[in-house]
Amino acid sequence: MQDNIFLKIIRKEIKTDFLYEDDEVLAFYDIHPIAPVHVLIIPKKPIQSIAQMSEEDSPIIGKMFWVARNIAKDLNISEKGYKLLIRVGKDGGQEVPHLHLHLLGGARLAENIHPV
Ligand code: AMP
Repeated sequence: MQDNIFLKIIRKEIKTDFLYEDDEVLAFYDIHPIAPVHVLIIPKKPIQSIAQMSEEDSPIIGKMFWVARNIAKDLNISEKGYKLLIRVGKDGGQEVPHLHLHLLGGARLAENIHPV
């Protein structure tokens, strides 16, 4: 797997404030937010995307959702609701080739899933 910005964040080569960190998962604010709350949750293991994950990675995916759920609660968007988004590959619009879960909230969000 080629190096990328999230691997640099995991290696702490890029200074980033973490909302959450443990042995498996990291969470931090998106640098170009598309919603009032925009957090990224990533695995520390270098998994390129959902398409590249293996069955043994399934618990990490569950953990990422659990962390997103807890951050949403901490940021007080849990009651009003939010969106969890994972882009996969080129057609999915994935830019960074390291699996990441977007937590989007703080406003009513449009669907916007039309073909480009
Ligand atoms: P995606 O299009 O799903 O691959 O999302 C990649 C996301 O990473 C985009 O929303 C970017 O704004 C975000 N991003 C890229 N570099 C950084 C960074 N250094 N810190 C935080 N977020 C970043």
